[in-house]
Amino acid sequence: MDYFFTEEQQMMREVAREIAEKRIRPVAAEYDESGEFPWPIVEAIAEADLFRVFIPEEYEGMDLGTPVTNMCIVTEELSKACGGIALAFAATGLGTMPLLVAASDEQKKRWLPRIAAGTLAAFALTEANAGSDAGSVQTRAVLDGDHWVINGTKQWITNGGEADIYTVMAMTDKTRGPRGASCLIVEKGYPGFSFGKKEKKLGIHASATRELIFEDCEVPRANLVGREGAGFILAMKTFDVSRPGIAAQGVGLAQGALDEVVTYARQRIQFGRPIIANQGYQWTLADMATEIEASRALVYAVCRTLDKRLKDVSKISAMAKLFATDVAMRVATDAVQLLGGYGYTTDYPVEKMMRDAKILQIYEGTNQIQRDIIGAALIKEYASHRK
Ligand SMILES: Cc1cc2nc3c(=O)[nH]c(=O)nc-3n(C[C@H](O)[C@H](O)[C@H](O)COP(=O)(O)OP(=O)(O)OC[C@H]3O[C@@H](n4cnc5c(N)ncnc54)[C@H](O)[C@@H]3O)c2cc1C
Repeated sequence: MDYFFTEEQQMMREVAREIAEKRIRPVAAEYDESGEFPWPIVEAIAEADLFRVFIPEEYEGMDLGTPVTNMCIVTEELSKACGGIALAFAATGLGTMPLLVAASDEQKKRWLPRIAAGTLAAFALTEANAGSDAGSVQTRAVLDGDHWVINGTKQWITNGGEADIYTVMAMTDKTRGPRGASCLIVEKGYPGFSFGKKEKKLGIHASATRELIFEDCEVPRANLVGREGAGFILAMKTFDVSRPGIAAQGVGLAQGALDEVVTYARQRIQFGRPIIANQGYQWTLADMATEIEASRALVYAVCRTLDKRLKDVSKISAMAKLFATDVAMRVATDAVQLLGGYGYTTDYPVEKMMRDAKILQIYEGTNQIQRDIIGAALIKEYASHRK
C-alpha cells in the first residue's frame, strides 16, 4: 500500500532500509549471541543523519513538522532486521520526546543538536515498585540552591549506561502523589550518577537494559523540563507520541518475519513441491500479510494525527501500540511454526524474532494497560455524547 510519504520521508526510508540490509542483518545473530551494545551500527545510523529525522531543523535536525511519522518510518525499517539493535535508535526517540514536548528554547539548543548528531538518550520512569503504576515513583529530587539533589534507583532503562542524556522522572513534592513528579535531564558523568545491574533478557539482547542509581546526584536547577510537578503529565504526553514508535517496531519485526517465511517456503521441498504451494500454508501467509498491512495503516494514520498536534490522542496512540504489537507476536510465533523444526533453531532468524517480539507487548505500558487507556477514553467519549 502507498502511504504517500513525502520525498524526504521516502529518502529516510531508503537510507534506513540500506542500513538494515547491509549493516544490521548480517550481524544481528552475532549481537544476539554476544549481548554487546551495537556501537558500530549506532555510528552508521548517526553518520546517515537518521537521528536528525525527529529533531526540528532549527536545532540541527531534519524534521519539517512530522517528527512522529519520521521516527516511525526509520524505526520500522531498522526493526525488520533486528528488534534489539533498532531499539538504540527508538529509545533515543523516546528519551528525546519530553524535550520536544516541553523543553524551553534554551534547553532545546543545549541538548537537541547533540542528539541530532548521534548522542544517545534514554527515558527513565520505571522503578522496582513503579511499573504499570508509574505515578508511584519513589526517586526523589530536592532543590538545594542551584541544584536538584536526586536519590533513588530506576530499573530496566533502555540504553542505560550507553546513553549520555537521560530524562528522569522524580518526585519533587512527595505529598502531592503523581502531581508531585517532575522531569529532570541528567547527563552521564554528573556526580552521584552511576549504573547498576545489566539485565539478562529473553530477547532484544543487543539492547542495554540497566539500572540507574542516583546517590545525592547533583543536577543543575536549569535541567528541569516543563513545570515543577508536571512530570507525570509530561510522561503521559511523551507516551502518546512515542507509543506509535513501539507499534512501528512491531510492524517492522512482523514484516521481517513474513519475509523470512516466504523466502524459506519457496525453497523448502516436501511431498515433491515447495511448501508454499500448499493452500493451507498460503492462508496463514495471507492472514500474516493482511494483519501487518492493517497495523501499518493504523500506525501511519495515528502518526499523521499526532504530527498535527491534535488533542486527546491517548486512545489512538494506545490502539496502534496494542494492535501492532499483538500482531507482531502472533506473526513471529506463526513464522516459527511455518519453518517447522528449522524455525526453532538459531540457524534461522525467526526464533530470535519471536523472542524479540514479546517485549513489545510489555514495555511503554503493557498491552493490558493500553486496553485500560482505550476503555477509559471510550467511557469518557460516550459520557460526553449523552450530554
Ligand atoms: C526490556 C525492558 C526495557 C524497558 N525499558 C524501559 C525504559 O527505557 N524506561 C522505562 O521507564 N521503563 C522501561 N521498562 C519498563 C516497562 O515499561 C515496564 O516493565 C512495564 O511498564 C510494566 O511494568 P512492570 O514490569 O512493573 O509490570 P507490573 O506493573 O508489575 O505488571 C505485571 C502484570 O500485571 C498487569 N497489570 C498491572 N496493572 C494492571 C491493571 N491495572 N489492569 C490489568 N493488568 C494489570 C500487567 O499488564 C502485567 O501483565 C522496560 C522494561 C523491560 C523489560
